[in-house]
Amino acid sequence: MTVRCLDCGEEIELPPGVTSGDLLDCPNCAGHTLRIREKDGQWSATLAYRVSCPACDAVLTLPEDAKAGDLIECCGRKYRLTFVNSGPTLRKRFRTSYVA
Ligand SMILES: [Zn+2]
Ligand SMILES: [Zn+2]
Repeated sequence: MTVRCLDCGEEIELPPGVTSGDLLDCPNCAGHTLRIREKDGQWSATLAYRVSCPACDAVLTLPEDAKAGDLIECCGRKYRLTFVNSGPTLRKRFRTSYVA
């Protein structure tokens, strides 16, 4: 079973035991992860975005419906997601900023 990375187009072999909703790293892409879905026996992938915490550098995987303006929490603080348009690719970039 393979899924195709939405960013680089690489076919990625699914490890044994994956279930729908699992996260998988594309070996070619840094900065995002693939969220694997199974529907009617067909596996597909959507991009799951990551940001680093501005305070402790932890890497947080954003929920599927994350959007600019959302608040995320890490190390006891809240941070606001801002969206960075990085050009004509599928790859979106999020950044975190401190909530004033
Ligand atoms: Zn990729
Ligand atoms: Zn943190």
